[in-house]
Amino acid sequence: MCGIVGYVGMRSAQQVLLDGLEKLEYRGYDSAGVALTQRDGIRVVKSKGRLSTLRSKLEELALPQSGCGIGHTRWATHGEPSETNAHPHCTDDKSVVLVHNGIIENYQELKAKLLRSGYTFYSQTDTEVAVKLVDYYYKKTGTPLEAISRAMLRIRGSYAFGVIFKDYPGKLFAARKDSPLIIGKSENGSLIASDVPAILDQTRRVYYIGNLEIAELSRDEIHFYNIDREEIEKDVVEIQWDAAAAEKGGYEHFMLKEIHEQPKAVQDTIGAYVKEGHIDFSETGLTDEKLASLKRIYIIACGSAYHVGMVGKYVIESMAKIPVEVDVASEFRYRDPILVADSMVVIISQSGETADSLAALRLAKDRNVPVLSVVNVVGSSIARESDYTLYTYAGPEISVATTKAYSTQLIAMYLLAIQSAFVQGKLEEGKVTRLLAEMETLPDKISRVLDDKERIQWFASKYANAHDIFFIGRGIDYAISMEGSLKMKEISYIHSEAYAAGELKHGTISLVEDGTLVIGVMTQKDLFEKTLSNMVEVKSRGAYLMGLTSYGNYSIEDTADFSVYVPKTEKYFTTSLAIVPLQLMGYYVSVAK
Ligand code: GLU
Repeated sequence: MCGIVGYVGMRSAQQVLLDGLEKLEYRGYDSAGVALTQRDGIRVVKSKGRLSTLRSKLEELALPQSGCGIGHTRWATHGEPSETNAHPHCTDDKSVVLVHNGIIENYQELKAKLLRSGYTFYSQTDTEVAVKLVDYYYKKTGTPLEAISRAMLRIRGSYAFGVIFKDYPGKLFAARKDSPLIIGKSENGSLIASDVPAILDQTRRVYYIGNLEIAELSRDEIHFYNIDREEIEKDVVEIQWDAAAAEKGGYEHFMLKEIHEQPKAVQDTIGAYVKEGHIDFSETGLTDEKLASLKRIYIIACGSAYHVGMVGKYVIESMAKIPVEVDVASEFRYRDPILVADSMVVIISQSGETADSLAALRLAKDRNVPVLSVVNVVGSSIARESDYTLYTYAGPEISVATTKAYSTQLIAMYLLAIQSAFVQGKLEEGKVTRLLAEMETLPDKISRVLDDKERIQWFASKYANAHDIFFIGRGIDYAISMEGSLKMKEISYIHSEAYAAGELKHGTISLVEDGTLVIGVMTQKDLFEKTLSNMVEVKSRGAYLMGLTSYGNYSIEDTADFSVYVPKTEKYFTTSLAIVPLQLMGYYVSVAK
């Protein structure tokens, strides 16, 4: 989800839009565009790549000054990053023009309907469907407000829209559901923006537009309506933030901001593939026949994505009984691996550009093994070259230490495990329904873990001077430990190691001495006692113990010096919750240092 800015007023809309979009650049984007109202209609100018390219293009065009327009920086979710797919999107005669942040989940269904009504499509985006749907209702009703509200009733998914109509040159419309959007009032006009920094130069007076509400802006007036087109009153709010803080949405660092964006990222990823209680992989190209034929899966990745692969192995093997090998990409590509028939390679990469993972993908393709990629960036090299692509919907991840992309990759693994198990006859439909229903509770449960962050912050501040930290666990808890340990060393520069709990005693335990922090991850019921006994072992060597488990396992308090609890969930999904306190630990230790 990237940037939206809109303006109607006495200043040059072109300048306001470009300056505003520049303030949102930190969010990352792949293309940009503006639409400006002119005397003879609406002019749309777009370009792939940097905003500076769009700026030069506009300078060259030297359009007459316009007092109304909308601008967008895009982070592609549907359709590759390109000038054609860039926003604004418009009807063929440019009578209705729209920018959009978010994802329209039922865009295929709406597109089919519009095609039947004679509409044609020039892009691969879900957004073009939205603008044509608004146009469809505009032609029917003749009023922008009714057209927008009727389109909103048909659209499922998330959106922040900015819309302008050729017939209403001094007006700007906005609407939202589950994507951020604010409305601003300045001395010289009215504005919309997806985030505060975009308009902070212009005004600090904003209105918060709620879900399923519409705003109608002109130079001097702003009106708000609910979806039934009844006018509603709103109070203006004075923004207190300074500009720098606002760019991180009030968070001190992007990492903390992204940790907090996890409920939404997880929800968006589940929403993209779980439709009416079933997994729908049609967008990925992966068929049930393909999954049913699989006898082996190779998961290849680097860093945190490799740890996701480790979780994937436990979950897929346990649910679907398909053997899974997990490999670090830089090892796999150089070791002449044996790839058996009826297998599939799964490549996991946030950026879709990880060089070793791309090389591993090419190796698999050379050996005629089909490749499924799990990537966050649409149109990236790995996505383009693989046979099937399961996009994660984390949005741009700015922090180098991954958090929200990792969490969405986990969802991809659960979905792959459940669907493979189902089509291979290892899971019955009732169980699938129950698992999916439980998966849908994860965003809320992650939010609950985040609510407890002050305790972790307090504990982390005590351990900022640690020299060594050990993370131990068994099974899935070992995979969680690996990621927790990587987060810790990556950002706090404290040496840390993850160990399979039962393995520690074979030598490494000699490094545990008085005061060494050992974090035991114990979310798996059947392994709880086992790991607890390893905790007792290290305690007898003087270790200071932090235990991480689910609510209810309070016996941990007898052994651990500090305990953190996460909500109960299905055993396969515990990583999604248990990783959050470990991300926070890594973050807060590094801040304290
Ligand atoms: N889903 C839209 C697209 O792919 C909007 C993406 C965004 O939020 O930037 O174009």
